[in-house]
Amino acid sequence: MSEAPVTWPFHAYAWQLEAWQQLMLLLDAGRLPHALLLGGPAGIGKERFVQAFAARLLCAQPQAGVACGQCKSCHLLGAGTHPDLVWLRPETDEKTGKTAKAIKVDQVRELVDFAAKSAQMGGYRVVVISPAHLLNVQAANALLKTLEEPGRETVLLLVTAQPMALVATVRSRCQRLVLPVPSAADAMAWLRPQVRDEATAQLLLSLSQGAPLAALALRDAEWFGERERLLQDLLQLRQRRQTALAVAQRWHALGAESVLTVLGSLVDDMAVVASGATVVKHVDLAPIIATTSRQLLPARLLAFRQELAVKQRLLAGNVQGNALVDAAFAEWQQLALP
Ligand SMILES: [Zn+2]
Repeated sequence: MSEAPVTWPFHAYAWQLEAWQQLMLLLDAGRLPHALLLGGPAGIGKERFVQAFAARLLCAQPQAGVACGQCKSCHLLGAGTHPDLVWLRPETDEKTGKTAKAIKVDQVRELVDFAAKSAQMGGYRVVVISPAHLLNVQAANALLKTLEEPGRETVLLLVTAQPMALVATVRSRCQRLVLPVPSAADAMAWLRPQVRDEATAQLLLSLSQGAPLAALALRDAEWFGERERLLQDLLQLRQRRQTALAVAQRWHALGAESVLTVLGSLVDDMAVVASGATVVKHVDLAPIIATTSRQLLPARLLAFRQELAVKQRLLAGNVQGNALVDAAFAEWQQLALP
């Protein structure tokens, strides 16, 4: 047996304890459903929960309700070579590095074969599909029979932050378990040691709707450090000190997805300020947000925000990102006209 450190997360997060215990009760009573749909917003640690739960099911000698981290099964998990676990996600092209937008039917067919065989290690067989809403229609159809009659001791764990985007025939065949957003105290206890200071941790959490993993990812997101510069540009556009096209071209480098995300987030705050409220999410930028949105009608800001949302949806299709960025800045400049 290898003595290499086992890195697979064998424990769920502290704020997931109640959900964990719920599953353990079902497991101990022999009533674990064979298809579980794990929901809850993005950035709360759903994958980690599933990793720990898969490990618990596959472990040869679980201790105190969790995987031991020591047995052969746990080592195979750590090495990513466990024969009784299949983890389905959109495939990444090795040459281009691009990740597919869907989980495809060929992947599901392999999984159906896997589920029909018996476990190589003599215990459970675990299938994880994440994010499950990326199953395309053919893939979902190919999965239905396995969802209804998986092999003996086969458990399917479907994970998604968007259960309503999941094909209804798949959704209806799964038992739902919604994982929680942690309390503010739990989220801070986890996040604070990983970021500079308390104020930054609170800002990141408030911008991430309290989802701690999303908050940590945001700290490293390029757009987080670009918020103030973007606000300055928006202000200058209102003051006619730059052209929309020149500004837009400078922002192409950040990528359309990030530009639309940060614009949307800042405009949300501007709409709040324009409506007379003072509590903004970007607390560190409150003064410049107030200046940039001065004398703008909330209704016009909201209309602009909706147009941004439309652009974000278009971007998920095949519309050229730079064109959307150009349009967004041009519309912003129009917004400022009397
Ligand atoms: Zn183990």
